[in-house]
Amino acid sequence: MPSPATERQQPRGERIIPGLWRLRLPLPWSGIPHCNAWVVDRADGDGHVLFDCGLHTKDSFNQLCEALTQIGKRIEDTKLLVCTHAHVDHYGEAKAVVDAAGCELWMHPNHAHMTASLKDPERLLEQRVAVGRESGVPEELLQHYREAGTPPGEGVAGLVNPAKDLVDGVEIETAVGTWTAIETPGHAPSHVSLYQPNRRILLAGDHILGRVALYYDYGWTDDPVAQYLASLDKVEALDARLCLPGHGKSFTDVRGHIEAHREAALGRLDRVEDVVRASGPATAIAMIPEIYGRPLSAENAGWLISETMCYLRHLERKGVVTSGDDPEQPRWTAA
Ligand SMILES: [Zn+2]
Ligand SMILES: [Zn+2]
Repeated sequence: MPSPATERQQPRGERIIPGLWRLRLPLPWSGIPHCNAWVVDRADGDGHVLFDCGLHTKDSFNQLCEALTQIGKRIEDTKLLVCTHAHVDHYGEAKAVVDAAGCELWMHPNHAHMTASLKDPERLLEQRVAVGRESGVPEELLQHYREAGTPPGEGVAGLVNPAKDLVDGVEIETAVGTWTAIETPGHAPSHVSLYQPNRRILLAGDHILGRVALYYDYGWTDDPVAQYLASLDKVEALDARLCLPGHGKSFTDVRGHIEAHREAALGRLDRVEDVVRASGPATAIAMIPEIYGRPLSAENAGWLISETMCYLRHLERKGVVTSGDDPEQPRWTAA
């Protein structure tokens, strides 16, 4: 009998409503064991549309095909791939899918946060070093970053550009109705949600999840936190009754989940402000253990640095905190 851990690593396909399926795809990440892709039959019955496609690993293409087989589909019958955003667990396998199916990719044009690194890994490394310095990472560690280099394109099958820009109002016809793209930046600059108004289904990517998890890409837009909060308002106004998230099971209390995400983000902003008031002037790195109640580790550093810098820059724009005299290595204090 397989152990529960082995069981969890299996890809799985399951029907949500007639014509729409969830593919649960394994991720090799601790704490985030799966991501979702969604399969929706086309309106004319000829093949299907695939929304998101998982991370690229040595096994990922077979796992995707296996999940499709479980619901009686084939990768070759994918007529369109739509990515909610250009993070590795949603876009990573896109090149492999597009090559195998001969279909188009539709995605938001602000995908440089992913694709710039594929085109120019050196530049990405320099950018990471700059953000590390800005957050207060010591020079010796930054040197270590440089020497370790960056594994270019880790988790991504290859670079593929969208054939169509998935911007506000773009429509996708399917057997369960027409989906409309709604730009929801914040979690990522390229983030888009898709809404089916007759059935009131929101395909939400990582904008709203069953269990609140906040993340923002730092350094690509001026204020990802403000964008995220505005995007929550935008989807709340839709009054969706079923949400298909990027990770975990679908859920129905969409309004409650939106409110929980908003409260969590505003709570974090308050927490960051409190910690700056109590411990400033201090670098982001120095404050992170106090803000989150846990130490920085190699595993969580990238995530927590990015998230924290986004809160600090948001509070700076609001005039609540200031970053001091050294723009290369800000030391934060209350304004
Ligand atoms: Zn994401
Ligand atoms: Zn994700």
